[in-house]
Amino acid sequence: MATYEKYLKEKTHPEEIVDLAREILELRKMLWLGHGHKGIYGDDGEMQCGECMTEYGFYDWRREPIEEIKSKIEATNLKRLLERAKGSNKNG
Ligand SMILES: [Zn+2]
Repeated sequence: MATYEKYLKEKTHPEEIVDLAREILELRKMLWLGHGHKGIYGDDGEMQCGECMTEYGFYDWRREPIEEIKSKIEATNLKRLLERAKGSNKNG
């Protein structure tokens, strides 16, 4: 069993579960704030992105499954790399 899974399974008290939920929310917030788009907005504690909505039909960084978030970050980074490569071809 992976170390992190073992660590999680040891958390049985409600206070520990709440701490884990807070930690997950904070990590989601860090990903949302740093994913590189300019359309982020967070009224009422939400974590949304207008640019993700336009690009992928996805916007809810607070509730979407983590696999969905991971795939959108990868897509955003790939798109950015391709745009840079196109830019360097024009100049070079
Ligand atoms: Zn976005």
